[in-house]
Amino acid sequence: MANIFDKLSGASKGVADMSKNASDTNNLKRKIAYEQERILEVMQEIGKHYYSNPNGDYTALCEDIDDRKRRINSMRNELQSIKGFRICSKCGTKFDEKYTFEFCGKCGAKLLSE
Ligand SMILES: [Zn+2]
Repeated sequence: MANIFDKLSGASKGVADMSKNASDTNNLKRKIAYEQERILEVMQEIGKHYYSNPNGDYTALCEDIDDRKRRINSMRNELQSIKGFRICSKCGTKFDEKYTFEFCGKCGAKLLSE
């Protein structure tokens, strides 16, 4: 009897891990989609302001977009690491999970750790 329960709990643990990965992936995809929508909105905002005031200062709005793009980048990296890949955020080289070095083998940038 004990054996069966061991097997059952082992199996359900595996399923829980898998669905955790799947929900992490979905979460990240949702967040990336959200940031992409926000970038479009901010761009529209800039367009409207620029139309009425071409000499205005749009630095803050542009920085907001840059921030969101950075966030999207690191979330994409996270997505890849869930799938077992790591991508260099600088040159875009892809490494599989066997590549354990801290720095990109191509450009030397620091790879984001999992
Ligand atoms: Zn690189």
